[in-house]
Amino acid sequence: DAIELGGQTRSDGGSKRGRGVDGTVDDATEDAVDDATGDAADAAADHGGVAGAVEYDEVSFAYPGNALVDPEDADEEVLSGVSFSADPGDTVALVGPTGAGKSTLLKLLLRLYDVTDGAIRVDGHDVRDVTVESLRSSVGYVAQDTTLFDGTIAGNIRYGRFTRIDEADAEESEVRERVVEAAKAAEAHEFIASLPNGYETRIGERGVKLSGGQRQRLAIARVVLQDPAILILDEATSAVDTETEMLIQRSLDRLAADRTTFVIAHRLSTVTDADTALVLEDGEVVERGSHDELLAADGLYAKLWGVQAGEIDELPEEFVERARER
Ligand code: ADP
Repeated sequence: DAIELGGQTRSDGGSKRGRGVDGTVDDATEDAVDDATGDAADAAADHGGVAGAVEYDEVSFAYPGNALVDPEDADEEVLSGVSFSADPGDTVALVGPTGAGKSTLLKLLLRLYDVTDGAIRVDGHDVRDVTVESLRSSVGYVAQDTTLFDGTIAGNIRYGRFTRIDEADAEESEVRERVVEAAKAAEAHEFIASLPNGYETRIGERGVKLSGGQRQRLAIARVVLQDPAILILDEATSAVDTETEMLIQRSLDRLAADRTTFVIAHRLSTVTDADTALVLEDGEVVERGSHDELLAADGLYAKLWGVQAGEIDELPEEFVERARER
């Protein structure tokens, strides 16, 4: 039978996650925490009892659809023998040319597809043994482009798919308070407060139109409410003004602080801030290490950033172009 990440079984109420609306930890979470040790226990005290250790063990993958398109491509692996592990709270940057397999690698963690070979484990559990719901509620995702629905700002924040707000039990005032807290953490509160109807402002087709930077901050607020142990960030390549970029960066840093974070990096500064980087090429990890180690290796990483000739702050223009084409 499938297990629930965080140590809870479906029979004790699937919708009830580790933490109640009032922030108290329920019994099941305490059990899970008792089972864990050290750092993992500290990390698991939040995030619904999930610590967020992630391990890829010789992972290979071929898209199943390829066989239909062209039988010759049936076994075309887009990932081959990828191994790495991340401890709870680590930040791992993924770098590599377009098509190297970075997004595919992370899709496997969400189980949008299953590995063809090898295994992915979260807190020691093979993700195939875990309920998809508990897995996806433990992995937050901030995409480049966020889908919002027609409705109010507050609605868009609180009805993220994996919000930990238990609507049935929650006091309305408490819910509102948590939505505002999440918006503040996402650096979205100020712009929301300046809208004609604040949190009750309608957005979408029949309401106000939000900028890309504003939409992204609402997406971040949703993930704050989700409180996942693991975070996937697809760093935006589209231009926002410097002020907005700074706000987004600050909220993402805060969001990533105590979570295991994987970021598809388009900025050099993201990699220098990460604990480690994995450099992918043609579905294989060809280099790994800190920014300094990778520079010293003078391989693909150094080439990608065009940094052999000295420090630069910007991506090479052709790299940005290719990223935009996706
Ligand atoms: P990256 O994120 O590094 O740009 P991707 O993971 O998107 O790389 O793509 C890796 C490889 O998988 C590419 O060759 C791409 O064409 C292929 N690919 C991506 N998505 C699919 C899909 N849904 N079906 C078949 N092939 C895909």
